[in-house]
Amino acid sequence: MKSTLLVVDCLNDFLDLRGLLNCGEAGRAVLPAIAREIAAARARGMEVVYACDAHRPDDAEFGLYPPHCLEGTWGAEIVPELRPEPGDRIVPKRRFSAFFGTDLDLWLRENRSDALRIVGVCTNICVLYTTADARMRGYDVTVPTDAVASFDSAAHGFALGQIRDVLKASLEGTGE
Ligand code: ZN
Repeated sequence: MKSTLLVVDCLNDFLDLRGLLNCGEAGRAVLPAIAREIAAARARGMEVVYACDAHRPDDAEFGLYPPHCLEGTWGAEIVPELRPEPGDRIVPKRRFSAFFGTDLDLWLRENRSDALRIVGVCTNICVLYTTADARMRGYDVTVPTDAVASFDSAAHGFALGQIRDVLKASLEGTGE
């Protein structure tokens, strides 16, 4: 099994306390664990893919949520603590799931990757729906629970339960 690390929405608008939809201290608290995951992936020769909200000013998602992560702005940039390196892949997305309207599935298949390790934010939104889409497509998914976070701790716990019990992905760690 070949696994790829998928870093979801580790962007200023979600993880910097000045960000438009930031996860607060819960988001800040998981930065070291995400950095650890990225370093471990690189040490093992795993590919690192960043799935990043990159919205247009008139994006339909803004009918549901306040504007955030406008493409080309500071809010849509990856936080400096988790900066990508040459060779990492950036997948811009406009919806919750990193698979929706992107070439992530094609790229994973071309790279013979059949498993994902998913970290980032928010556990109950983009992490959950990306995990759901990955499982529907037959990928194995592991979520290290100390490397995902949400602005809503109850929703975080509920989403981890759904990931484990409904989507049959693996949770690692005790942060649930
Ligand atoms: Zn968004």
